[in-house]
Amino acid sequence: MTLLAVKENEMTGIPGSRQSPSGEVVVFCPQCKAIQTVQISGSKLTPTRKFTQVGPYIYHDCGSNRPCRLYHNM
Ligand SMILES: [Zn+2]
Repeated sequence: MTLLAVKENEMTGIPGSRQSPSGEVVVFCPQCKAIQTVQISGSKLTPTRKFTQVGPYIYHDCGSNRPCRLYHNM
């Protein structure tokens, strides 16, 4: 089902050893609903002005204490 396929592409945090994603992912801030495409390279966020990586999670600079959701860019 389409719904399941979408769910599988939704992540909270960058996957570790199981997958080593590189390329573009879409980050969605649950606090202010900001959406931006960022670059991931070997499970690490390429530094951007508005997003900070803490461990496997990415936080927006709006002050949200909830990690952003990540979506594979399709
Ligand atoms: Zn935000």
